[in-house]
Amino acid sequence: MDTKIKPKNESHLVDDTRYSMDTHLIYGKNFTKKWDYSHQVLPPITSSVIFRLNSVERGAEGFQEFAHSPETGEEPMPIYIYDRLGEPNKEILEENLAYVERGETAVTFSTGMGAISGVIGVLTKAGDEIIAHKTLYGCTYSLLTNWLPRYNIKTCFADLTNPLEIYNALSNKTKVIYLESPANPNLDIIDLKEVRKIVDEINGQRENNNKIKIVVDNTFATPYCQRPIELGADFSVNSLTKGLGGFGTDMGGVVTGKMAYRDVLLLYRKDFGAVLNNKSAWNVLTYGLTTLPLRIKQQMKSALRIAEYLSNHPKVEYVRYPGLPSHPGYNVARKQMIDFNGNFAPGSLIYFVLQGDSAHESKENGRNFINQVANNAYTMTLAVSLGHTRTLIEHPASMTHSMIPAEKLSESAIDPGGIRIAIGIEDTNDILMDLDECLKVI
Ligand SMILES: *Cc1c(COP(=O)(O)O)cnc(C)c1O
Repeated sequence: MDTKIKPKNESHLVDDTRYSMDTHLIYGKNFTKKWDYSHQVLPPITSSVIFRLNSVERGAEGFQEFAHSPETGEEPMPIYIYDRLGEPNKEILEENLAYVERGETAVTFSTGMGAISGVIGVLTKAGDEIIAHKTLYGCTYSLLTNWLPRYNIKTCFADLTNPLEIYNALSNKTKVIYLESPANPNLDIIDLKEVRKIVDEINGQRENNNKIKIVVDNTFATPYCQRPIELGADFSVNSLTKGLGGFGTDMGGVVTGKMAYRDVLLLYRKDFGAVLNNKSAWNVLTYGLTTLPLRIKQQMKSALRIAEYLSNHPKVEYVRYPGLPSHPGYNVARKQMIDFNGNFAPGSLIYFVLQGDSAHESKENGRNFINQVANNAYTMTLAVSLGHTRTLIEHPASMTHSMIPAEKLSESAIDPGGIRIAIGIEDTNDILMDLDECLKVI
Protein backbone atom coordinates (compact mmCIF):
# COMPACT_ATOMS: atom_id res chain seq x y z
CA MET A 1 0.00 0.00 0.00
CA ASP A 2 1.25 3.46 -0.85
CA THR A 3 0.99 5.44 2.37
CA LYS A 4 2.54 8.62 1.02
CA ILE A 5 0.45 11.74 1.49
CA LYS A 6 -0.45 12.97 -1.95
CA PRO A 7 -1.03 16.63 -2.74
CA LYS A 8 -4.71 17.33 -3.32
CA ASN A 9 -3.86 18.77 -6.65
CA GLU A 10 -0.26 18.92 -7.85
CA SER A 11 -1.04 21.88 -10.08
CA HIS A 12 -1.55 23.95 -6.92
CA LEU A 13 2.20 23.89 -6.51
CA VAL A 14 2.82 26.01 -9.57
CA ASP A 15 -0.47 27.81 -10.03
CA ASP A 16 0.31 31.46 -9.24
CA THR A 17 -3.17 32.59 -10.12
CA ARG A 18 -4.65 30.46 -7.36
CA TYR A 19 -2.22 31.02 -4.48
CA SER A 20 0.15 33.89 -3.83
CA MET A 21 3.94 33.57 -3.62
CA ASP A 22 3.70 34.32 0.14
CA THR A 23 1.84 31.02 0.45
CA HIS A 24 4.03 29.14 -2.02
CA LEU A 25 7.08 30.09 0.07
CA ILE A 26 5.59 28.14 2.98
CA TYR A 27 4.44 25.07 1.07
CA GLY A 28 6.90 25.23 -1.81
CA LYS A 29 7.32 21.99 -3.64
CA ASN A 30 6.33 20.02 -0.60
CA PHE A 31 5.90 16.93 -2.72
CA THR A 32 9.21 16.41 -4.37
CA LYS A 33 11.15 13.49 -5.69
CA LYS A 34 14.15 14.76 -3.81
CA TRP A 35 12.85 13.21 -0.65
CA ASP A 36 10.98 9.98 -0.26
CA TYR A 37 9.03 10.81 2.88
CA SER A 38 5.50 10.15 3.96
CA HIS A 39 4.28 11.65 7.23
CA GLN A 40 6.67 14.47 8.06
CA VAL A 41 5.24 17.93 7.51
CA LEU A 42 8.75 19.35 7.12
CA PRO A 43 11.51 17.54 5.24
CA PRO A 44 13.33 15.35 7.77
CA ILE A 45 16.84 16.72 8.21
CA THR A 46 19.67 14.45 7.21
CA SER A 47 23.17 14.45 8.58
CA SER A 48 24.49 11.58 6.52
CA VAL A 49 27.31 12.43 4.13
CA ILE A 50 27.04 9.08 2.36
CA PHE A 51 24.09 7.16 0.99
CA ARG A 52 23.76 3.37 0.89
CA LEU A 53 23.51 1.88 -2.58
CA ASN A 54 21.75 -1.42 -3.20
CA SER A 55 24.07 -2.66 -5.92
CA VAL A 56 27.15 -1.72 -7.92
CA GLU A 57 24.81 -1.18 -10.87
CA ARG A 58 22.83 1.38 -8.89
CA GLY A 59 26.07 3.10 -7.84
CA ALA A 60 27.18 3.27 -11.45
CA GLU A 61 23.79 4.63 -12.47
CA GLY A 62 24.06 7.31 -9.78
CA PHE A 63 27.45 8.46 -11.05
CA GLN A 64 26.14 8.49 -14.61
CA GLU A 65 23.10 10.55 -13.62
CA PHE A 66 25.14 13.11 -11.70
CA ALA A 67 25.34 16.38 -13.63
CA HIS A 68 23.33 14.88 -16.48
CA SER A 69 20.10 16.74 -15.84
CA PRO A 70 17.29 15.85 -18.20
CA GLU A 71 16.63 18.91 -20.37
CA THR A 72 13.01 18.03 -20.84
CA GLY A 73 10.52 15.56 -19.49
CA GLU A 74 10.29 13.68 -16.22
CA GLU A 75 13.14 13.88 -13.79
CA PRO A 76 14.22 10.42 -12.59
CA MET A 77 14.14 9.59 -8.87
CA PRO A 78 17.49 10.92 -7.63
CA ILE A 79 20.22 8.47 -6.64
CA TYR A 80 22.18 10.06 -3.82
CA ILE A 81 25.80 9.03 -3.31
CA TYR A 82 27.86 11.62 -1.46
CA ASP A 83 26.95 15.03 -0.01
CA ARG A 84 29.36 16.99 -2.24
CA LEU A 85 27.55 15.68 -5.34
CA GLY A 86 24.01 16.11 -4.10
CA GLU A 87 21.79 15.63 -1.05
CA PRO A 88 18.05 16.10 -0.36
CA ASN A 89 18.01 19.22 1.88
CA LYS A 90 19.95 21.23 -0.68
CA GLU A 91 17.97 19.97 -3.64
CA ILE A 92 14.58 20.71 -2.07
CA LEU A 93 15.89 24.18 -1.24
CA GLU A 94 17.17 24.57 -4.82
CA GLU A 95 13.76 23.74 -6.27
CA ASN A 96 12.15 26.40 -4.09
CA LEU A 97 14.83 28.99 -4.78
CA ALA A 98 14.54 28.47 -8.54
CA TYR A 99 10.81 28.92 -8.21
CA VAL A 100 10.90 32.13 -6.18
CA GLU A 101 13.66 33.62 -8.39
CA ARG A 102 11.71 32.64 -11.53
CA GLY A 103 14.67 30.74 -12.95
CA GLU A 104 14.73 27.28 -14.53
CA THR A 105 17.18 25.91 -12.00
CA ALA A 106 19.17 26.88 -8.92
CA VAL A 107 22.48 25.55 -7.59
CA THR A 108 23.41 26.31 -3.98
CA PHE A 109 26.91 27.02 -2.64
CA SER A 110 28.49 27.26 0.80
CA THR A 111 28.42 31.09 0.79
CA GLY A 112 27.44 33.99 -1.43
CA MET A 113 31.10 34.29 -2.47
CA GLY A 114 31.09 30.56 -3.32
CA ALA A 115 28.12 31.20 -5.63
CA ILE A 116 29.75 34.26 -7.24
CA SER A 117 33.02 32.35 -7.80
CA GLY A 118 30.97 29.48 -9.22
CA VAL A 119 29.01 31.44 -11.80
CA ILE A 120 32.07 33.44 -12.91
CA GLY A 121 34.10 30.22 -12.91
CA VAL A 122 31.78 28.49 -15.38
CA LEU A 123 31.37 31.54 -17.63
CA THR A 124 35.01 32.59 -18.08
CA LYS A 125 38.42 31.21 -19.02
CA ALA A 126 41.92 32.67 -19.43
CA GLY A 127 41.92 35.61 -21.84
CA ASP A 128 38.29 36.59 -21.23
CA GLU A 129 37.09 39.92 -19.90
CA ILE A 130 34.33 40.97 -17.52
CA ILE A 131 32.58 44.34 -17.45
CA ALA A 132 31.49 45.11 -13.88
CA HIS A 133 29.64 47.99 -12.31
CA LYS A 134 32.09 50.20 -10.43
CA THR A 135 30.34 49.74 -7.06
CA LEU A 136 30.40 46.19 -5.74
CA TYR A 137 30.51 44.25 -2.49
CA GLY A 138 34.12 44.41 -1.21
CA CYS A 139 34.92 40.69 -1.53
CA THR A 140 33.51 40.54 -5.06
CA TYR A 141 35.73 43.50 -5.93
CA SER A 142 38.66 41.61 -4.39
CA LEU A 143 37.82 38.43 -6.35
CA LEU A 144 37.76 40.40 -9.62
CA THR A 145 40.89 42.46 -8.94
CA ASN A 146 43.12 40.17 -6.82
CA TRP A 147 42.37 36.62 -7.94
CA LEU A 148 40.94 36.48 -11.45
CA PRO A 149 43.88 38.43 -12.97
CA ARG A 150 46.09 35.47 -11.89
CA TYR A 151 44.13 33.40 -14.38
CA ASN A 152 44.38 36.17 -16.98
CA ILE A 153 40.74 37.17 -16.59
CA LYS A 154 40.49 40.94 -16.63
CA THR A 155 37.70 43.17 -15.31
CA CYS A 156 36.83 46.62 -16.71
CA PHE A 157 34.82 48.71 -14.26
CA ALA A 158 32.18 51.01 -15.70
CA ASP A 159 29.32 53.14 -14.45
CA LEU A 160 26.41 50.95 -15.46
CA THR A 161 23.83 53.36 -14.03
CA ASN A 162 24.29 54.54 -17.62
CA PRO A 163 24.05 51.20 -19.48
CA LEU A 164 25.48 52.81 -22.64
CA GLU A 165 28.84 52.75 -20.81
CA ILE A 166 28.94 49.05 -21.75
CA TYR A 167 29.96 50.10 -25.27
CA ASN A 168 33.03 51.97 -23.95
CA ALA A 169 34.23 49.02 -21.87
CA LEU A 170 33.40 46.39 -24.48
CA SER A 171 35.96 44.29 -26.36
CA ASN A 172 35.65 41.11 -28.36
CA LYS A 173 36.95 39.31 -25.25
CA THR A 174 34.03 40.46 -23.06
CA LYS A 175 32.10 37.44 -21.78
CA VAL A 176 30.26 38.65 -18.70
CA ILE A 177 28.45 41.79 -17.52
CA TYR A 178 28.45 41.67 -13.72
CA LEU A 179 26.48 43.97 -11.43
CA GLU A 180 24.51 44.41 -8.22
CA SER A 181 21.25 46.37 -8.16
CA PRO A 182 20.77 47.88 -5.64
CA ALA A 183 24.56 48.00 -5.34
CA ASN A 184 26.40 47.44 -2.07
CA PRO A 185 26.78 49.83 -0.28
CA ASN A 186 25.62 53.00 -2.11
CA LEU A 187 22.37 51.51 -3.49
CA ASP A 188 23.04 52.47 -7.12
CA ILE A 189 20.17 51.23 -9.27
CA ILE A 190 20.90 49.77 -12.70
CA ASP A 191 18.25 49.44 -15.38
CA LEU A 192 18.33 45.69 -16.07
CA LYS A 193 16.05 45.82 -19.12
CA GLU A 194 18.32 48.46 -20.69
CA VAL A 195 21.40 46.31 -20.00
CA ARG A 196 19.59 43.36 -21.65
CA LYS A 197 18.73 45.44 -24.71
CA ILE A 198 22.34 46.52 -25.23
CA VAL A 199 23.72 43.03 -24.64
CA ASP A 200 21.18 41.60 -27.11
CA GLU A 201 22.38 44.06 -29.72
CA ILE A 202 26.02 43.08 -29.14
CA ASN A 203 25.17 39.36 -29.02
CA GLY A 204 23.39 39.71 -32.37
CA GLN A 205 26.86 40.01 -33.96
CA ARG A 206 28.32 37.05 -32.09
CA GLU A 207 28.41 33.28 -32.55
CA ASN A 208 26.19 31.18 -30.28
CA ASN A 209 29.09 29.95 -28.15
CA ASN A 210 30.41 33.49 -27.66
CA LYS A 211 27.40 35.36 -26.29
CA ILE A 212 27.85 37.77 -23.39
CA LYS A 213 26.03 36.70 -20.22
CA ILE A 214 24.50 39.06 -17.66
CA VAL A 215 24.99 38.16 -13.99
CA VAL A 216 23.09 40.14 -11.34
CA ASP A 217 23.80 39.88 -7.62
CA ASN A 218 20.29 40.20 -6.16
CA THR A 219 21.32 39.96 -2.50
CA PHE A 220 20.20 43.49 -1.52
CA ALA A 221 16.74 43.10 -3.05
CA THR A 222 16.08 39.38 -2.48
CA PRO A 223 13.65 37.75 -4.93
CA TYR A 224 10.81 39.15 -2.85
CA CYS A 225 11.61 42.65 -4.15
CA GLN A 226 13.12 41.88 -7.58
CA ARG A 227 13.53 38.95 -9.99
CA PRO A 228 16.50 39.80 -12.25
CA ILE A 229 15.86 36.87 -14.61
CA GLU A 230 12.41 38.23 -15.46
CA LEU A 231 14.09 41.57 -16.19
CA GLY A 232 16.62 40.05 -18.60
CA ALA A 233 19.52 38.70 -16.53
CA ASP A 234 20.94 35.31 -17.51
CA PHE A 235 21.88 34.52 -13.92
CA SER A 236 20.78 35.82 -10.55
CA VAL A 237 23.06 35.31 -7.54
CA ASN A 238 22.03 35.61 -3.91
CA SER A 239 23.84 35.29 -0.63
CA LEU A 240 21.58 33.08 1.50
CA THR A 241 23.43 34.48 4.51
CA LYS A 242 21.50 37.73 4.18
CA GLY A 243 17.78 38.33 3.58
CA LEU A 244 16.91 34.87 2.26
CA GLY A 245 18.31 33.15 5.36
CA GLY A 246 17.05 36.06 7.40
CA PHE A 247 18.14 35.18 10.93
CA GLY A 248 21.92 35.37 10.66
CA THR A 249 22.36 31.74 11.70
CA ASP A 250 23.78 30.20 8.52
CA MET A 251 25.95 30.99 5.52
CA GLY A 252 24.99 30.08 1.98
CA GLY A 253 24.76 31.21 -1.62
CA VAL A 254 22.80 30.36 -4.75
CA VAL A 255 23.08 30.79 -8.51
CA THR A 256 19.79 30.73 -10.43
CA GLY A 257 19.58 30.51 -14.21
CA LYS A 258 18.93 28.35 -17.26
CA MET A 259 18.69 24.57 -16.96
CA ALA A 260 21.45 24.31 -19.59
CA TYR A 261 23.93 25.53 -16.94
CA ARG A 262 22.86 23.27 -14.09
CA ASP A 263 25.28 20.47 -14.92
CA VAL A 264 28.36 22.61 -15.35
CA LEU A 265 27.57 24.45 -12.10
CA LEU A 266 27.21 21.09 -10.32
CA LEU A 267 30.52 19.90 -11.74
CA TYR A 268 32.24 23.12 -10.71
CA ARG A 269 30.77 22.87 -7.21
CA LYS A 270 31.83 19.21 -6.94
CA ASP A 271 35.45 19.95 -7.85
CA PHE A 272 35.97 23.37 -6.21
CA GLY A 273 34.04 22.06 -3.24
CA ALA A 274 32.03 25.07 -1.98
CA VAL A 275 29.04 22.89 -1.03
CA LEU A 276 26.23 24.26 1.14
CA ASN A 277 26.04 22.61 4.56
CA ASN A 278 22.90 20.45 4.58
CA LYS A 279 21.81 21.78 7.98
CA SER A 280 22.09 25.33 6.67
CA ALA A 281 19.98 24.35 3.65
CA TRP A 282 17.32 23.03 6.00
CA ASN A 283 17.31 26.25 8.06
CA VAL A 284 16.90 28.45 5.00
CA LEU A 285 14.13 26.20 3.70
CA THR A 286 12.29 25.90 7.02
CA TYR A 287 12.73 29.36 8.56
CA GLY A 288 14.19 31.71 5.94
CA LEU A 289 11.96 31.24 2.89
CA THR A 290 8.71 30.78 4.81
CA THR A 291 9.10 34.09 6.68
CA LEU A 292 10.65 36.07 3.81
CA PRO A 293 7.46 38.01 2.90
CA LEU A 294 6.63 38.87 6.53
CA ARG A 295 10.14 40.00 7.33
CA ILE A 296 10.68 42.05 4.18
CA LYS A 297 7.29 43.76 4.43
CA GLN A 298 8.05 44.89 7.99
CA GLN A 299 11.61 45.92 7.08
CA MET A 300 10.41 47.98 4.12
CA LYS A 301 7.70 49.69 6.14
CA SER A 302 10.35 50.83 8.62
CA ALA A 303 12.97 51.60 5.95
CA LEU A 304 10.74 54.12 4.19
CA ARG A 305 9.91 55.96 7.41
CA ILE A 306 13.53 55.94 8.57
CA ALA A 307 14.79 57.14 5.17
CA GLU A 308 12.27 60.01 5.26
CA TYR A 309 13.25 60.85 8.83
CA LEU A 310 16.96 60.91 7.93
CA SER A 311 16.41 63.06 4.83
CA ASN A 312 14.71 65.69 6.99
CA HIS A 313 17.40 65.64 9.68
CA PRO A 314 19.60 68.76 9.77
CA LYS A 315 22.76 66.75 10.55
CA VAL A 316 22.36 64.52 7.49
CA GLU A 317 24.05 65.55 4.23
CA TYR A 318 22.18 63.13 1.99
CA VAL A 319 20.24 59.85 2.11
CA ARG A 320 19.94 57.15 -0.49
CA TYR A 321 16.98 54.81 -0.40
CA PRO A 322 15.46 53.51 -3.66
CA GLY A 323 12.00 54.26 -2.26
CA LEU A 324 12.68 58.00 -2.00
CA PRO A 325 12.01 60.14 -5.09
CA SER A 326 15.34 61.92 -4.36
CA HIS A 327 17.25 58.70 -5.27
CA PRO A 328 18.75 59.14 -8.77
CA GLY A 329 17.53 55.64 -9.68
CA TYR A 330 14.03 56.10 -8.27
CA ASN A 331 12.22 55.83 -11.62
CA VAL A 332 14.10 52.68 -12.61
CA ALA A 333 13.58 51.19 -9.13
CA ARG A 334 9.85 51.83 -9.45
CA LYS A 335 9.80 49.75 -12.61
CA GLN A 336 11.98 46.84 -11.52
CA MET A 337 11.71 46.49 -7.74
CA ILE A 338 8.24 45.00 -7.53
CA ASP A 339 6.94 42.35 -5.13
CA PHE A 340 4.84 39.35 -6.15
CA ASN A 341 1.64 41.35 -5.76
CA GLY A 342 2.79 44.18 -8.01
CA ASN A 343 3.69 46.64 -5.23
CA PHE A 344 6.78 48.84 -5.27
CA ALA A 345 9.36 47.04 -3.08
CA PRO A 346 12.49 49.19 -2.63
CA GLY A 347 14.16 46.92 -0.06
CA SER A 348 15.46 47.29 3.46
CA LEU A 349 18.82 49.05 3.09
CA ILE A 350 19.57 52.72 3.57
CA TYR A 351 22.82 54.55 2.87
CA PHE A 352 23.49 58.03 4.23
CA VAL A 353 26.22 60.54 4.89
CA LEU A 354 26.42 62.99 7.79
CA GLN A 355 27.24 66.63 7.29
CA GLY A 356 30.70 68.03 7.81
CA ASP A 357 32.74 70.95 6.54
CA SER A 358 35.04 68.54 4.71
CA ALA A 359 34.98 64.90 3.61
CA HIS A 360 37.28 64.22 6.54
CA GLU A 361 34.89 65.84 9.03
CA SER A 362 31.83 64.05 7.68
CA LYS A 363 33.74 60.78 8.00
CA GLU A 364 34.68 61.61 11.61
CA ASN A 365 31.05 62.51 12.35
CA GLY A 366 29.97 59.20 10.86
CA ARG A 367 32.48 57.31 12.97
CA ASN A 368 31.32 59.10 16.16
CA PHE A 369 27.70 58.43 15.31
CA ILE A 370 28.29 54.71 14.71
CA ASN A 371 30.27 54.42 17.95
CA GLN A 372 27.41 56.16 19.71
CA VAL A 373 25.01 53.58 18.25
CA ALA A 374 27.34 50.71 19.15
CA ASN A 375 27.40 51.74 22.82
CA ASN A 376 23.93 53.15 23.43
CA ALA A 377 21.31 51.95 20.95
CA TYR A 378 19.21 48.96 22.00
CA THR A 379 17.63 48.40 18.57
CA MET A 380 20.72 48.86 16.38
CA THR A 381 23.84 46.72 16.33
CA LEU A 382 27.22 47.64 14.90
CA ALA A 383 27.79 44.62 12.70
CA VAL A 384 28.22 43.71 9.04
CA SER A 385 25.61 41.66 7.12
CA LEU A 386 22.03 42.63 6.34
CA GLY A 387 18.53 41.24 5.95
CA HIS A 388 18.63 40.21 9.63
CA THR A 389 15.84 40.34 12.23
CA ARG A 390 17.99 42.98 13.99
CA THR A 391 18.82 46.37 12.53
CA LEU A 392 22.52 46.39 11.63
CA ILE A 393 24.65 49.46 11.06
CA GLU A 394 28.18 49.66 9.68
CA HIS A 395 30.79 51.88 8.08
CA PRO A 396 31.56 50.36 4.63
CA ALA A 397 34.85 52.23 4.03
CA SER A 398 36.41 50.70 7.16
CA MET A 399 34.50 47.40 7.20
CA THR A 400 32.69 45.58 4.34
CA HIS A 401 34.52 47.55 1.63
CA SER A 402 37.91 47.92 3.34
CA MET A 403 39.39 45.71 0.58
CA ILE A 404 38.99 48.69 -1.75
CA PRO A 405 42.10 50.87 -1.39
CA ALA A 406 41.29 54.34 0.06
CA GLU A 407 42.39 56.09 -3.16
CA LYS A 408 39.97 53.91 -5.18
CA LEU A 409 36.90 54.60 -3.03
CA SER A 410 35.82 57.57 -5.13
CA GLU A 411 36.24 55.53 -8.35
CA SER A 412 33.86 53.02 -6.74
CA ALA A 413 31.49 55.89 -5.78
CA ILE A 414 31.76 54.99 -2.10
CA ASP A 415 31.70 58.01 0.21
CA PRO A 416 34.44 57.69 2.88
CA GLY A 417 31.82 58.82 5.42
CA GLY A 418 28.96 56.69 4.10
CA ILE A 419 26.89 54.77 6.67
CA ARG A 420 24.90 51.67 5.77
CA ILE A 421 21.84 50.65 7.78
CA ALA A 422 20.14 47.31 7.16
CA ILE A 423 16.71 47.56 8.77
CA GLY A 424 15.46 44.66 10.92
CA ILE A 425 11.98 43.69 12.04
CA GLU A 426 11.83 45.75 15.27
CA ASP A 427 9.04 48.25 15.93
CA THR A 428 9.69 51.22 13.64
CA ASN A 429 9.19 53.78 16.41
CA ASP A 430 11.84 52.13 18.56
CA ILE A 431 14.47 52.32 15.81
CA LEU A 432 13.52 55.96 15.17
CA MET A 433 13.82 56.79 18.86
CA ASP A 434 17.32 55.28 19.07
CA LEU A 435 18.43 57.00 15.86
CA ASP A 436 17.14 60.33 17.10
CA GLU A 437 18.93 60.05 20.45
CA CYS A 438 22.22 59.02 18.85
CA LEU A 439 22.06 61.87 16.30
CA LYS A 440 21.35 64.40 19.07
CA VAL A 441 24.60 63.80 20.90
CA ILE A 442 27.02 64.04 17.98
C1 LIG B 1 27.30 39.53 1.71
C2 LIG B 1 27.27 39.72 0.25
C3 LIG B 1 27.85 38.78 -0.59
C4 LIG B 1 28.64 37.60 -0.08
O1 LIG B 1 27.85 36.68 0.62
P1 LIG B 1 28.49 35.66 1.70
O2 LIG B 1 27.38 34.75 1.99
O3 LIG B 1 28.95 36.51 2.85
O4 LIG B 1 29.65 35.01 1.03
C5 LIG B 1 27.77 38.98 -1.95
N1 LIG B 1 27.12 40.04 -2.46
C6 LIG B 1 26.53 40.97 -1.68
C7 LIG B 1 25.82 42.11 -2.32
C8 LIG B 1 26.59 40.83 -0.30
O5 LIG B 1 26.02 41.77 0.47
